[in-house]
Parts: sequence; structure tokens; C-alpha cells
Amino acid sequence: MRFDIVTLFPELFAAHLEHGVTRRAFAGGAVQVQLWPLREHATDTYRRVDDRPFGGGPGMVLLAEPLERALSAVRAQRGEEAPVVHFTPAGRRLDQAAVREFARGPGAILLCGRYEGMDQRVIDRHVTHEISLGDYVLSGGELPALVLLDAVARLQEGVLPAPSHEQDSFSDGLLEGPAYSRPELLPDGRGVPEVLLSGHHARISQWRREQALALTARRRPDLIEAARTEGRLSPADEAFLSRLARGL
Ligand code: SAM
Repeated sequence: MRFDIVTLFPELFAAHLEHGVTRRAFAGGAVQVQLWPLREHATDTYRRVDDRPFGGGPGMVLLAEPLERALSAVRAQRGEEAPVVHFTPAGRRLDQAAVREFARGPGAILLCGRYEGMDQRVIDRHVTHEISLGDYVLSGGELPALVLLDAVARLQEGVLPAPSHEQDSFSDGLLEGPAYSRPELLPDGRGVPEVLLSGHHARISQWRREQALALTARRRPDLIEAARTEGRLSPADEAFLSRLARGL
């Protein structure tokens, strides 16, 4: 799969692509990343890619023409249809279901906004997906692009040890419960739950499931409701949730 990223700041990507567990996906070619510096598609002497908004108002807007030229160059090199993603607070909130769809697809062309955003005519003509990271405003689309790349890369085969991401939050619609590591006992006396030291795999897995259910019920009851509606809760899950609701 291939991601083409149109950005004013290509240098923001290098560190992330070269470090951490996801670098296996990038270095191994499972996720190819091609950066397209927007300024290279400006045509005037000052390499101008932004200007004031028509109608007045603060800030600058990314110009349509350099963006259109960058998109044509990307498409000429890709030679195949690909989703075009625009990162914007007005987009659909990114979630694990959308990440999984991208992880199964051909990749995408990612358009990173800056300043007050980009000329709407580019969005109207080319964009197939508008994605938001959440209800807050960042200074550019580069961090959202990195977030999408990271989330997609870690789902590629061989990036994480086999079942690792299957236990992550949202994989089965629940939040993942707590984790502990050495030492068993901290100097101030805090230990770890007994069951995790028991070596009893069935009990450990039941405990983990119950921790995930309890955490999700407390923090994200909407996810419990969704799991219930979609038939993803077993009779044992329901029995545990009912005991939990009664404070037992
Ligand atoms: N004037 C825009 C608004 O009020 O919606 C915000 C522009 S923001 C300063 C610059 C760029 O950052 C946006 O064009 C977008 O690409 C990106 N951005 C900011 N917040 C974002 C978010 N929550 N999700 C995705 N992209 C975001």
C-alpha cells in the first residue's frame, strides 16, 4: 500500500518513519510513503502557496493551483485511483473501524492543511474522505497524517508480534484493561493482582476480559451498548456486567 502526502512541511515526517515498531512497515515497504512538498508546486518566484481569504478575515488560505498541480503529479506517478483524504476538524472522527478499512486498502493521498485551511474548490473536486482527529484545532494536517500512518502501519502483518493488536483497545470493541510488569512488589509495598502470577491461562484470560468489561462500562458505556447490540457479549460477559451493576 502507498501513501502520498502533500505537505508544506515534509521534514516533520522523517523521525516518525525511521523509529519505533512501525518503522518495520515503512522500511520493509509494506507501507510506502512518498512526500510531496507543496512549495515545489508553486510557480512564482517567491514559491507562494498561500494568500488572504476572499471576503476578508484573519489568516491565510492554501492556494488551489499549487495543490491541484501537486495532486496531478501524485496521480501521474501512482497511476491508479486512490482515496484522497483531507484532514480537517469538520471531518468524520477517526476511529479504529476507519483505520482497519485503510489498512486493508491501497493507501491514499493525504492532503495536509495549514493556516486557515485550503481553498474549498480543491476539496470539492478531489477529496473522498474528510477526517478529524477530534474536537480541537491543530496547526496543520501533518500530525493527523502521522496518526493515520501509525495506526495503519501497526496493523500490517509482521509489524507487531502475532496477536498483539488483537488485544488492543477497540479491536473487539472494548477498552483494554491494565497491564503490569516486574517487579512483583514495588519497594513501597504495591503488588500486582495475584491471578497474573498464577500461571493459570484460563483464569488470567477471564480476569483480563472482566477488567476490559469493567473499564469499558465505567469509561465508555456507549461501547458496551454497541457490543451488546452487535451480539459481541457472551452470557458470561453479561453475567459479569450484571454483577458489576449490582456492585457485587
Ligand atoms: N480554520 C480551520 C477551522 O477552524 O476549522 C482550522 C485550520 S487549522 C489551524 C490548520 C489545519 O490543521 C487544517 O486545515 C487541518 O488540515 C488541520 N487540523 C486542525 N485541527 C484538526 C483536527 N482536529 N483534525 C484534523 N485536522 C486538523
